[in-house]
Amino acid sequence: MAPVTVITGGGRGIGAATARRLAAAGHHVALCYLRDHAAAETVVADLRATGVSAVAVCADTTDPDQVDELFTAAARLGPLTGLVNNAGVTSPIGPFTELRVEDLRRVVDVNLIGYVLCAQQAARRMTDGGAIVNVSSAAATLGGPGEYVHYAAAKGATDTLTVGLAKELAPRGIRVNAVAPGIVRTDIHAVSGVPDRPDRAAGRIPLGRAGEPDEVAAAIAWLLGPDASYTTGTVLRVAGGL
Ligand code: NAP
Repeated sequence: MAPVTVITGGGRGIGAATARRLAAAGHHVALCYLRDHAAAETVVADLRATGVSAVAVCADTTDPDQVDELFTAAARLGPLTGLVNNAGVTSPIGPFTELRVEDLRRVVDVNLIGYVLCAQQAARRMTDGGAIVNVSSAAATLGGPGEYVHYAAAKGATDTLTVGLAKELAPRGIRVNAVAPGIVRTDIHAVSGVPDRPDRAAGRIPLGRAGEPDEVAAAIAWLLGPDASYTTGTVLRVAGGL
C-alpha cells in the first residue's frame, strides 16, 4: 500500500518542496496551510498530476480541533504512515530585550505546541508503525543571538521532543527524527524582516551559499523512508556547514 503522509505548512517553502519530493516517490499527501490558499492548491495540483492523492486543509497547527480535522482528512487517503512537522514561524529579528510577548507566545505556540499536537495525532493514528520528521533549525544549537533567541529555544525543544518521542514510540515501530536546516531560501526571512537574509548570510556559511528547499526535502524524504529503517532519535543537520 502507498504511504500516506501529513505535511504541516506544505503550501510554501520547505514543506512544499517536501510534498513534491514525496509525491514523486509515491506518497499520498495531506498538507495544511494557514493563509495562502492559492499556493497550497497549486502544490496539490502538482502532486495530483504525478498520480497520487493529495488534499490541502486550512488548519492552524496550534488549534487541536483543526489539527484533528487535518488528520481526519488524511485518513481518507489511507492509513497514516508519515508526518512531517514543518509549519514553523519566526518573528521580527532583533535584540532579546526588544522581544514582544505576543511574538514570543506565537513562536512557542507554532514551533512547539503545534508540533506536539500533530505528533500526538500521528502517534494515535499510526497503528502499524510509521515515521515522524520534525523540522528543527540549526539555530537550536547556535542560539540565534541578536536575532531570535526565543525561536532558537523553541527549536531546541523540537530536538528534545524528537529524542524523547523516538524512545517512547520505538516499541510500536514508529521512528522519530529531525532535520536542522541552516539558512534556506524561503519566504520565512521576509516575515522576520530580512528578505535578503540568505544572500547576506552566504559569506559566513562554510559552503558559501544558502540552502534550497529541495536540499532539505531530500533529507526529510530519506528520514521518512525505508533506507532510514534503523535511524531514530537523531537530528540531521542540513546547514552547509553552519
Ligand atoms: P515558509 O516558507 O514561511 O512556509 C511556512 C509554511 O507553514 C507555509 O505554508 C505557512 O502557511 C505554514 N504555516 C505557518 N504557520 C502555520 C500554522 N500555525 N498552521 C499551519 N500552517 C502554518 O517557511 P520555511 O522557511 O519553509 O520553514 C519551514 C520550517 O523550516 C519551519 O519550521 C522553520 O522554522 C524551519 N526552518 C527554516 C529555515 C529557513 O531558513 N527557511 C531554517 C531553519 C529552519 P501559509 O502559506 O498559509 O502562510
